[in-house]
Order: sequence, then C-alpha cells, then structure tokens
Amino acid sequence: MTRPMMAHRGRAFEELFARLEAGLRDVLLTARPVYISTSSASGLMEGAIRNAPAGAVLALVNGAFSSRFAKIAKACARDVDVFEVPWGETFDLEAVDRRLGSRRYAAVTVVHSETSTGVLTDVRTVTELAHKHDALCIIDSVTGVAGAELRFDEWKLDFVLTGSQKALALPPGLAFGVASSEFLRRARDVSDRGLYFDVVEFEEFAAKNQTPATPALSLLYALDAQLADVLREGIERRWERHAAMRDATAAWLKRAVTRVDLEIDILAPEESRSPTITTVTLPENVKSADVVKAVERRGFVIGAGYGKLKDTTIRIGHMGDHTLETLRPCLAECEDALRDVGGIKW
Ligand SMILES: *Cc1c(COP(=O)(O)O)cnc(C)c1O
Repeated sequence: MTRPMMAHRGRAFEELFARLEAGLRDVLLTARPVYISTSSASGLMEGAIRNAPAGAVLALVNGAFSSRFAKIAKACARDVDVFEVPWGETFDLEAVDRRLGSRRYAAVTVVHSETSTGVLTDVRTVTELAHKHDALCIIDSVTGVAGAELRFDEWKLDFVLTGSQKALALPPGLAFGVASSEFLRRARDVSDRGLYFDVVEFEEFAAKNQTPATPALSLLYALDAQLADVLREGIERRWERHAAMRDATAAWLKRAVTRVDLEIDILAPEESRSPTITTVTLPENVKSADVVKAVERRGFVIGAGYGKLKDTTIRIGHMGDHTLETLRPCLAECEDALRDVGGIKW
C-alpha cells in the first residue's frame, strides 16, 4: 500500500485492473465482470437498490444488517414490505414463497451471513423463489464471500455485494459487486438509478479495465497481494477452512454446555450457522461489554453483540486470514474470561 500512485487512465493501471478482475471472478465464481467500488459495502447496498427494477421490494429481515437493507431501500424511496423473523432465526422458505406470491415484487433483499446473529441463509433457494415470482434477488454477502460457499453463475444469482474488510481480510474502503446480465439489462430501464453506483457505468468501464471514478489505488495494491494469497489457497479450500473454524467454535461451546449447567449457547440453529462468525448468547447476569473487556485484557479482540443483541451476546469472528491455530488460543482466553466475569465454571 506504500507503493507510489499511478495514473488511473494509464496502461499500468489497466493491467492491474485486469489482474484484480480475474482474481475476483475466481472468488465469486463468475464469468461476469466484478465491479470495484471505492466505498464501504453499504455503498453497493444502496447501489443495488437504486439499480433494481422499478416496483415493490420485499426485504427479508433476520438481524441488524438485513434490517438495515430494508432501511436503505426505504431511504431510496422504494415501496418496501418487510418479512421479518426473530433475530437469530432463519427463514421458512415455504413462507417466503407464499409471501412472494401475495403481491408483485420487483426485487428481494437478503443477507447471506447475518453478521449480527451468525445465521447463514440459503441464498441460492431464495433466489430460485424470487425468480419463480419474476423478482430479482439482491444478496448482501459481506461476511459470506471468501468465507462461505457462493457460486454466482452456477446458482444463477442476480446481484451479490461484499466489502473488503470482512472475510477478504483487507483494510476497509472497497466494495465488490457482481450483476447478472439480466440484472444489468433491467437496470438500463431504471431512469433514476444515480451515477456513482450505476451498474451500467461500472460495466462499461470494466470492459476498458477501468473504474468510472478515481479508485482508492492503495487499497487496490493491497487487494492485488491478498487475491494472490486467496487463490493460492483456492476458494474451496478457503470455504473449508472457515467451516472448520465454525465447527471448532461450536465444539468448544458444546463442551462447556454439557459439562456444566450453563445458560450459554450459540444463537443460530445448528443447520444454518455462518462459517465466518459465531454469536453466543450469554447468561442473564453476564454483560457482553465485561466479557469483551476481559478477553481484550487477555490479548484478543472479540465483538460485543450488535443492534438489539448488543448486551446479551458476544460475537467471535473467525474469518479472513484466521486459522484453527490462531482461533484456538482465542477460544481458550474467551473461556478464561467467561469464567472470570460470569463465575462460570467450565
Ligand atoms: C459489515 C457489514 C455491512 C456493512 O458494511 P460497511 O462496509 O460498514 O458498509 C453490511 N452487511 C453485512 C452483513 C456486514 O457484515
């Protein structure tokens, strides 16, 4: 990232861009161009809404980030219906199907890995259901891409967005998005889709190996280095590593719960747990802030809960460049901290 700047309309930049595109296509498993946006992931959440075909939006909400997606759609003056399940749960897909049949929707928003609850949603099936009702599906995979299985072309997805600072383990400041040809075709008919996040412009410039506006070049240098690492490991192996970290975290907690009578558990149901993040519900007398502080004193950073789960849960992120070897000492310190703070005996 300390490398000198270069002209973003020059040959050297175009070579860099072409290399980044090829790498990102291998991460998202698509032959479509991957748009590189100088923004945080929220920028492309808003962009996806603004480019989506005119008409009502059905927002599937099961946590803080999917709730935010609904809020973004409303802020973009969309007619939004919210289909909400209790935070920590996943969706009954038959109920989603019925809801999609109840009214004509142009688009559906869904979060792949709900970073507030640790729930993983079957976005492939949600997309199939949307298509059955002639709607397009917009997927926030900010803590999914590069950690959880996602196959853009094979799963026939419409729009997927992610950010640089989660499972890709880069500094914040970049977002990546990919649109199907159908999503792009329908976007052309949207007259008020704006400009900074216009997928038609992204597409035209990507064809020239350029970005529409000046990119955050230093972050692209970092992306170049990181993509080389990601692809050296292989995307499927990367998913497996994340799944192994999720399973190790679950096994660690289960050992505790079965050994002593603890009111501490993983929030997400067993069959839909995100490979990148685990949200743990705490006993009533234990506050998340105290646990987080105690873990920090022991040299590790975990998250408190998010949104309305702030005080009652902790979140252990196991994504990006982490491995079982770096996770295990963290879990050991979490265990020690919980014992200290909550008087919990393991
Ligand atoms: C982090 C996160 C976002 C927001 O990303 P920003 O980069 O802060 O805009 C959105 N959705 C999910 C699921 C996230 O984890």
